[in-house]
Amino acid sequence: MRTYRIATIPGDGIGKEVVPAGRRVLEAIAAGSPNFRFDFEDFDWGGDYYRKHGVMMPADGLDALRGKDAILFGSAGDPHIPDHVTLWGLRLKICQGFDQYANVRPTRILPGIDAPLKRCAPKDLDWVIVRENSEGEYSGVGGRAHQGHPIEVATDVSIMTRAGVERILRFAFRLAQSRPRKRLTVITKSNAQRHAMVMWDEIALQVSKEFPDVKCDKELVDAATARMVNRPATLDTIVATNLHADILSDLAAALAGSLGIAPTANLDPERRYPSMFEPIHGSAFDIMGKGLANPVGTFWSAVMMLEHLGERSAARQLMEAIERVTANPALHTGDLGGKATTAEVTEAVCAMLASNAAANSQAA
Ligand code: ATP
Repeated sequence: MRTYRIATIPGDGIGKEVVPAGRRVLEAIAAGSPNFRFDFEDFDWGGDYYRKHGVMMPADGLDALRGKDAILFGSAGDPHIPDHVTLWGLRLKICQGFDQYANVRPTRILPGIDAPLKRCAPKDLDWVIVRENSEGEYSGVGGRAHQGHPIEVATDVSIMTRAGVERILRFAFRLAQSRPRKRLTVITKSNAQRHAMVMWDEIALQVSKEFPDVKCDKELVDAATARMVNRPATLDTIVATNLHADILSDLAAALAGSLGIAPTANLDPERRYPSMFEPIHGSAFDIMGKGLANPVGTFWSAVMMLEHLGERSAARQLMEAIERVTANPALHTGDLGGKATTAEVTEAVCAMLASNAAANSQAA
C-alpha cells in the first residue's frame, strides 16, 4: 500500500473552508482504495501567520514542503495586507521556488451547470489553458525610483527566456497531443509587443515541427477573448504567457458557470519538486466563515492531484462523483444560484465515493 505525503495549505478566506473539505474527500477516496493512503500535514501560513510573524510563510518553508508528494493549496489574499505581499509571500514563493512552470487549467461546463453562453452546448466548451508560470510578466523584475516625488517612476519588465518559452510550449504541444482533438491555439500579442512576443511566436513555430499531428494556430490575446465567447468549439488546448493566461482563465471559468468550480495545477513536469493543486478562485472574504463556499473547484483540483500521482482510477471516480453532485440543483451552492452549504456538497461527494467503494468490494 502506497502512502502519499500531502501538504495542505488552506491560506486565507474561504481557503480555510474548501481545503479541509478537499482533504475529507481525498480521505474518502483513499478509504475505498486498497492501493493508497494519504499522510496529510497542515501548514497555517497566510494572512494570520503574517500578522503574528511579519511574513506569509517561514524563510525555510520550502524545505518543509520539499519531501511531499503534492501540495493542496486554498488561497492567499487578505483585505488588510497588500495583494502583492500575500501573492509574492506565499503562492508565488512556492510556484517559483519549486519551478512549477506549467499552470494547467481545464474548463468544462459540468452537468447541471447553467452557463452564461446561451448558444453554447456544454460539449462545445472543453478547454485546457496552459499558463506559463515561471517568468514573463510575473518575473518580478523592475523597480521604483523617486518615490513620492512628481518624477516618480516604476517599471515591471517582462522576461522571456528561450529555455522558458521552449519548455512551456513543448509541454502544451504534448498535452494537446494527448487530447482527442489534438488542437493547440498559441496566444500572442506580437503585433504590439515586438521583442519577447515575436520570439514566443518563432519558438512556437519551431516546436510545432516536433508535433506534426497537432493542429496549431495563433491568436492575438484580444481576439481570443471574443473567440472564446463567439466560437468556443474552435478551441481545445490553449497556451499563453503568465499574464495573458491569467486573464483568459478567469473568463474561461466564468463562461463555464462559476469561479467556484474551476481547478488548477501548478506542475513541475520534471517532478524535481512537489506540484501544487488549488482552486482558481481567491479568498472571497465576502462569504468566508459562513459555510457558503463552493468546494467543487478544490475537489476538481484534487482530481488533478490524483492524476498527477498516477491514481487514474481514483481520479475518474472522484470526477464522476463531482459531476453527479453538480447535476443535482439541490446540491448547488450560492454562486450557482442554489442554497447548499460547503458541508452538504462535501458530504454528498463522500457518500457517493463510499457507495462506489461498497459496490466495488461486493463485485470483487
Ligand atoms: P482574491 O483577492 O484573494 O483573489 P477575491 O475575493 O477578490 O479574492 P475571488 O475569490 O476570486 O476574488 O472571487 C470573486 C467573488 O466570487 C467572491 O467575492 C465570491 O463572491 C465569489 N466566489 C469565488 N469563489 C467562490 C466559491 N468557491 N464559492 C462561492 N463563491 C465564490
